[in-house]
Amino acid sequence: MRITSCLVASVAALAAPLALGPSTAAAADIVTVPQGGVGRWTGIAAKECGIYGKRYAAVDAACYFPVDIRTPAGAHEIAAWDQDGKRHVGTLVVQEATFAKVEMDLPESLGRYLDPSAEEIARAGKERTEVLAILGGSGGEPRFSLPLAKPTANLPKSEDDFGSERTFNGKRKSLHSGRDYPVGAGNSVMAVADGKVVLAADHFYTGNAVYIDHGDGLVSMNFHLQSIAVEVGDEVKRGEKIGTIGGTGRATGPHLHLGLRWLGKRIDPALLLATPDALPAVSDSRAEAQHKIDRAERKEPDETDDLTD
Ligand SMILES: [Zn+2]
Repeated sequence: MRITSCLVASVAALAAPLALGPSTAAAADIVTVPQGGVGRWTGIAAKECGIYGKRYAAVDAACYFPVDIRTPAGAHEIAAWDQDGKRHVGTLVVQEATFAKVEMDLPESLGRYLDPSAEEIARAGKERTEVLAILGGSGGEPRFSLPLAKPTANLPKSEDDFGSERTFNGKRKSLHSGRDYPVGAGNSVMAVADGKVVLAADHFYTGNAVYIDHGDGLVSMNFHLQSIAVEVGDEVKRGEKIGTIGGTGRATGPHLHLGLRWLGKRIDPALLLATPDALPAVSDSRAEAQHKIDRAERKEPDETDDLTD
């Protein structure tokens, strides 16, 4: 009897760590992502993904984890559910990024943005409420693949301005959460993916602005347009014209401001216009994390502890 119970105990002791198999194995699944970046998890044929307590659909069997510009450095649990519904758990480590501080002088013609009237402040506040209501996205299945389509036929390199803190005329501060592409006035602006127009209006700061919901919590925004070619509720296709380049709102000249929100997080739009292979991935970081552990272990022996005698 004693042997039997002993065996049972041994089996139970063995079974416990085995039952934790997936999460034990996943303990090494780490990805390090800078603020404003996007992490990626491929290779497990993911169906759904999870971070920040949200569960959402995978994109082409890969999980993506957006990190807001201002998410503090630290660790977040990430999850990926495969086609069989099995949950894989990993860790996303947010790394602090350095963003530029830019001093800008607005010309006198844009003076209203430095000292808006009470009416303009009220207007901007009302518009902010409208925008906040749609930025989280409607969720559902993704209506996009990565990379996204370019928003203009010839997309020049943007200024390296994502995440910059701008000070206008030494007084007004603004966080730049998108990218500015220097495209000439009148050029067509296209939808970066299929989606539904959730907001298309002339706003105080952003001028003629078009917001498109692409499913899976992804929302794209195009600001300062000269003209808008779509209406709220319109279904648009990837590459479909939504307006023309302009310099409306708080803009010093014609350009396209492109912004992206994913799960409500402000991410660098340039990252999703380039190949997703370039994003920090769980598989890459795993080797990197292991490399770090190896190095740490090599450092462990204390070479001074034998010197005392
Ligand atoms: Zn901008």
